[in-house]
Amino acid sequence: MTRSIIPQDDKCNGWYQLLSDPAPPNRLNTHTDADWLVIGAGFTGLAAARRVAELRPGERVVLLEALRIGQGASGRNTGFVIDLPHKRDLEGDDLARKQKLLALNRGAVDDLETLVQRHGIDCGWSRAGKYQGAVGERGLKYLDHYERLLKEFDYPYRRLECEDLSPILGTRHYAAAIYTANTALMQPAALVRGLGETLPDNVDLYEHTPVVNLTRLDGQWCATTPEGEVRATNLLLGSNIYSREFGFLRHRMLPVMTFASMTRTLTDEEMGPFSAAPHHFGLTPADHAGTTVRLTPDRRLIIRNQYRFVPRYHDDLSERTRIRQGHRESFEARYPELAQVPFEATWGGACGLSRNYTAFFGRVGDNAWMSGVHQSVGAARGTISGKLLAELATGQDSRQLADMLAVSGKPALNPPEPFLSLGVKTRMRQAAWASRSEL
Ligand SMILES: Cc1cc2nc3c(=O)[nH]c(=O)nc-3n(C[C@H](O)[C@H](O)[C@H](O)COP(=O)(O)OP(=O)(O)OC[C@H]3O[C@@H](n4cnc5c(N)ncnc54)[C@H](O)[C@@H]3O)c2cc1C
Repeated sequence: MTRSIIPQDDKCNGWYQLLSDPAPPNRLNTHTDADWLVIGAGFTGLAAARRVAELRPGERVVLLEALRIGQGASGRNTGFVIDLPHKRDLEGDDLARKQKLLALNRGAVDDLETLVQRHGIDCGWSRAGKYQGAVGERGLKYLDHYERLLKEFDYPYRRLECEDLSPILGTRHYAAAIYTANTALMQPAALVRGLGETLPDNVDLYEHTPVVNLTRLDGQWCATTPEGEVRATNLLLGSNIYSREFGFLRHRMLPVMTFASMTRTLTDEEMGPFSAAPHHFGLTPADHAGTTVRLTPDRRLIIRNQYRFVPRYHDDLSERTRIRQGHRESFEARYPELAQVPFEATWGGACGLSRNYTAFFGRVGDNAWMSGVHQSVGAARGTISGKLLAELATGQDSRQLADMLAVSGKPALNPPEPFLSLGVKTRMRQAAWASRSEL
């Protein structure tokens, strides 16, 4: 299993730029043995490493990360830790499955909150809940449908119309929104860095240490890095979409990028329209191809939208001007009176999707386990599935683990190239066009 592409940091991540410089990275520059090798220090890998170290305190865990913690997708998202099942999972009549997904996601929110509080991780953690917003007729159709699904699911919510929303969202752009409590909002780069700094003592974390080759040798997993090597009895994969490079789910994951832009801090005067407490919020689009908006506790507005198919996990940086322009249009449509407020950063992050919207959790080889394809809800799903992956691998038995196995499946096989690229790009273009009024 030879890897060919390793993650790159495009140095554009606005959240990461707000953090102080980290201590120099601990790079692996030797040959070492471990009981457990975890690849990737995003939400999944961090949770897996933590849990396996707790369950096996006498064993050595090595966690390898290609970048600095916080530079990957887990530090690049819009910072929603969502308790509700993903929109696709809310469809259908299998109420028991939805309840399992909800319980798992709530477990993730609770686990992260416990760690944030226990270790005093300064990441703006807030149980602010989230709004699902509709701009026009198309969005309202999606919103009505979402409302029906919440009702059937017996999930409490509040519907707000434009008048009630405008002091919260600081704009009259939205026709209506549905508010659900329990989603947490946070600064993702700060959170994952904090999680990395507070791992148990039996986890050795190496950053700037990409695995460039992964093989099975004499009954052990052997990971080669630019300056060293790890031989380990067990392998836990938290490398999400990059796991394709080691041959896992190679033809079942879709590498997709989505993008965000962040403004500078708003002044007191600019904050005027956001008159309703708590003066920060998170809004996801009712139409899934629409725009996510956040006002952070430090008074920055964030816009997220647009998707690209990225077989090499990064976009052409020259595309960013176009993406930023699209964000600008979405921003100014919502906040015309803030047209003078510049973006300080525009960035993208690579995620794994699947054609049948199914996530993967389970064994992928001898003493090897993987969790991935978290669609766009990896903060919660990565956290809970990483923890439970460690439980599966160590032979634990728990209700949560049984639920996770029950809700996971096999991502659908992709068609061969060039049909895959053509198909995905066409679908994305069609979705972007159909949803332009919600952007
Ligand atoms: C702009 C944007 C907004 C988003 N908003 C949200 C949101 O609000 N809420 C939400 O839940 N989700 C959101 N997502 C999705 C979410 O970020 C992902 O689902 C989540 O990061 C997946 O976590 P993970 O740990 O499984 O994978 P990743 O975060 O991708 O972590 C994998 C890690 O593995 C490392 N790695 C890969 N290959 C190697 C190698 N060869 N050697 C060593 N290390 C390696 C990578 O560097 C990376 O750090 C968003 C994504 C983007 C891009």
